[in-house]
Amino acid sequence: MNYPHLFAPLDLGHVTLPNRILMGSMHTGLEDKASDYNKLAAYFAERARGGVGLMVTGGISPSIEGWLKPFGGRLTLPWHKPRHRKLTRAVHAEGGRICMQILHAGRYGYHPLSVAPSKIKSPITPFTPRALSARGVERTINDFVHCARRARDAGYDGVEVMGSEGYLINQFIAARTNRRSDAWGGDAARRMRFPVEIVRRTREAVGPDFIIIYRLSMLDLVEDGQDWSEIVALAKTIEAAGASIINTGIGWHEARIPTIVTSVPRAGFAWVTQKLKGEVAIPLVATNRINMPEVAERILADGEADMVSMARPLLADPAWANKAKAGRSERINTCIACNQACLDHVFQNKRASCLVNPRACHETELKIEPASTRKRIAVIGAGPAGMACASNLGERGHAVTLIDKAREIGGQFNYARQIPGKEEFHETLRYFRHRLSDAGVDVRLGQTADAALLHAGGYDEVVIATGITPRTVSFPGSDDPRVLSYLDVLARHQSVGAKVAIIGAGGIGFDVAEYLVEAAPSPTTDVTRWTREWGVDMTLEKRSGLQPPRPETPTRQVWLLQRSEGRPGARLNKTTGWVHRATLKAKRVTMLGKVGYERFDDQGLHVTVDGKPQILPVDNVVVCAGQEPNRGLAEELIAAGLTVHVIGGADVAAELDAKRAIDQGTRLAGTI
Ligand code: FAD
Ligand code: NAP
Ligand code: SF4
Repeated sequence: MNYPHLFAPLDLGHVTLPNRILMGSMHTGLEDKASDYNKLAAYFAERARGGVGLMVTGGISPSIEGWLKPFGGRLTLPWHKPRHRKLTRAVHAEGGRICMQILHAGRYGYHPLSVAPSKIKSPITPFTPRALSARGVERTINDFVHCARRARDAGYDGVEVMGSEGYLINQFIAARTNRRSDAWGGDAARRMRFPVEIVRRTREAVGPDFIIIYRLSMLDLVEDGQDWSEIVALAKTIEAAGASIINTGIGWHEARIPTIVTSVPRAGFAWVTQKLKGEVAIPLVATNRINMPEVAERILADGEADMVSMARPLLADPAWANKAKAGRSERINTCIACNQACLDHVFQNKRASCLVNPRACHETELKIEPASTRKRIAVIGAGPAGMACASNLGERGHAVTLIDKAREIGGQFNYARQIPGKEEFHETLRYFRHRLSDAGVDVRLGQTADAALLHAGGYDEVVIATGITPRTVSFPGSDDPRVLSYLDVLARHQSVGAKVAIIGAGGIGFDVAEYLVEAAPSPTTDVTRWTREWGVDMTLEKRSGLQPPRPETPTRQVWLLQRSEGRPGARLNKTTGWVHRATLKAKRVTMLGKVGYERFDDQGLHVTVDGKPQILPVDNVVVCAGQEPNRGLAEELIAAGLTVHVIGGADVAAELDAKRAIDQGTRLAGTI
């Protein structure tokens, strides 16, 4: 059997799960409106079909006060139940199982009605919560219990009580946010009464044959969080109160240590769950950055946990479990932990999706069905846009030729994958290599497409996905061989001196800076190095798991420059930008805005910073000044009267990213 530990059944007493895979809770944005529940049902049904053992919904509030945001999803009234029944019926029809997560946001609520154990505003929300009275605490416990009972009525197999990530329950447990002196605050035993009462009374209300998962914060990663002995005591008491499973929570949302982004090592926190093994008898679930079966199997085989939770990896590939079970893990569309279409969307109040799988959360709308007429189609450029388009066209039954002048598929992903902390981008290329082959696409590498070739090919339609050309800069000395483009560094691997200025502080400028200061292999490949760099105490002797960070010495001195005013990196992605900024700060990179480029000579780069002249004594300059569309071929073909579609960077280079490229390629493929 493939991955025998991963596919070993798990007996919970009243029910046996078919495997050890838990689809962790992910807010998709579809939970918030009753009219979106058909879409949500299709989303869960597809994942149940994909073989996952147990799923957990996004957070559903037990009260209006507990909303994450105004009018967020809740299950508080009898007429909320039918919409939830759509989900449970759809999942059960596919033979799956689903729990509903009960999430009370507490002071993380993005609305003026928020409540908390004490009146202390969080650093990540603008609203100061109201402190709950003792009666208010009792009422909130009852809200959890009623919500769980309604979830049971709506057909759920269980609930997950969200006790981590800095939400209300976590706020009660930690002295950081609980300054009460009544029966719900004071010492650790009284602070933990709140979750224990929730679990105990919920068990009483729902009976023995209903799953209660408790998501327990095992590493707070914020000042004044819990210490390990308190966490162990809480876990034991929660077990005694009637929980069926304990899931792992790592880090509050306000923590300044990354917990799920792509530069976090794979399974980078499984060691925390392992420390709790033996302290409780109920199954423990390991979480965070588990994305491939080999990783999941190792965690279980080494006895670090009894189950593994994956959320984003099942957005990326709903058939993850079935593919692993069938020994086809090379066909898994791997989550690269970029957050670009999932968490970033949720923070922008947009529906979640997935960069590598644009169908995620759009299952009812974005359908790839067999084509009515088989056409001969050439796709030029095997970057993300071209790969997505060609594979979908092939799967629809078209005869597809994918041409790229490079010797390997992937386009700019071949540069992205070299960036320290972006090792996961390799997986996307592996996935597409198999998918293109399975779809019968004729992939021709090392061939530059031109108008003559495409005319001679007699194609019905041509898709131009030729990407971009890097923007060049012009100032005295910019033609010096020591002034390089990012392609000279990442594609041609030209040598770079010890002191470097980077022109342009967009996504590529930041990535190139990390490439230049980080020793290879990057700390992402080594949990011990990574935790040392970020200040995570692996001995768990320090409260909250925090210790002073000890960044490794940078391998170069780097200046990262932009012309516009303000903080470089302010426009990087919402949930990951702060990690890039913190990484470069730790590596002592000088980040400057309001820079004018005057000239380059043997003294270095002459600039003005806020109007004042300065010489940066650098050996090299690397230009990362944005990109222009590479669409000359498209224009030639259009002029010649061919049926041409232009996608990805060749279409629009401004604000291009792989999310748009793959989405555009996929959507176009559905229409030809
Ligand atoms: P490209 O990837 O540029 O592919 C175009 C392809 O066309 C190339 O393979 C080229 O060889 C081929 N081609 C061009 N002309 C011809 C021709 N005449 N004949 C044959 N072939 C031709 N995006 C993200 O979303 N997240 C990230 O974290 C991220 N990190 C990045 C890091 C780096 C260092 C870089 C450089 C880019 C990063 N990007 C990231 C950007 C992302 O890679 C691009 O947005 C994406 O690759 C654009 O896809 P595309 O298919 O339009 O073009
Ligand atoms: P970008 O994000 O547009 O940044 C370009 C940078 O160059 C800016 O700092 C810009 O700032 C500067 N610039 C623009 N024109 C210039 C000129 N003529 N002279 C000097 N400086 C100039 O582009 P990019 O960094 O090349 O990235 C390309 C795309 O890839 C982006 O859209 C990005 O989203 C995507 N990408 C994403 C990630 C990710 O992690 N999500 C990572 C890498 C790349 P000033 O104008 O202020 O100088
Ligand atoms: Fe994973 Fe990125 Fe997809 Fe989110 S958008 S599920 S992080 S690959």
